Amino acid sequence: MGSGFNAEEEELFYQTGEALHKRLRRTRNPADLLATVRLAYEGFDRAYASAPAEARTAVACRSGCAACCHERVGVQAHEVLIAANHIQRHFTPVELDEVIARAAIHRAALAERDRPGWPPPRTPCVLLRAGACSIYEARPESCRAHHSHDAAACQTNLEQGNEAIDVKIPGLRGRMYAVMLGMDQAIEEAGFDDRSYDFGTALHEALTDSRCAIRWTQRQPAFSDSCLETPEWPETDSPKDGM
Ligand code: SF4
Repeated sequence: MGSGFNAEEEELFYQTGEALHKRLRRTRNPADLLATVRLAYEGFDRAYASAPAEARTAVACRSGCAACCHERVGVQAHEVLIAANHIQRHFTPVELDEVIARAAIHRAALAERDRPGWPPPRTPCVLLRAGACSIYEARPESCRAHHSHDAAACQTNLEQGNEAIDVKIPGLRGRMYAVMLGMDQAIEEAGFDDRSYDFGTALHEALTDSRCAIRWTQRQPAFSDSCLETPEWPETDSPKDGM
């Protein structure tokens, strides 16, 4: 498939995709679809548990270390809706209001992305609380897929505003990506929204507009274009059209 996966990772990719696709086909009640996708998150835990021991022992990520939570997170709609659902069920009304307020500030900052000087310095994820993820069990796929072998290097990368130091763990990275891309493939094949959204922005929309979840189950774009990770250009305005 030209993915750069080794044979084992490629197998993991296909297994993950086929299993989720089958479960989605068997899920008759639209209200259960999101829970079906969320169950597939367990694939990350299984892929981690079956990774080579030397890869697992190389992991430097620890509780309270949150440099990676200052990156912008790109997600698909189901990841936002799973996070929003978790927030609505577990946060107090005050905590919910606080997250919506932080997400609104994040969203307003992203709306400035066409202005000179953008992007601004990295800011914490709207769900980072006291140095920890406040939705850990429901965190998005790229958060689950990230592991570093050097926490100090993560901090240096954060302070320098770039990723000059490679913190990836090869024996884990490919496995995590195989699960993530397998899930994405199943979502796409089942006809659900597969556009790439900015997490904080789409989360604001999910928490303030209940129609987002309905649109997703109806296999329509769940969020407005203003939540996209990268703006989509209308076909006629594509730079290629003028070439
Ligand atoms: S969702 Fe959680 S793990 Fe992911 S960036 Fe935000 S705080 Fe960090």
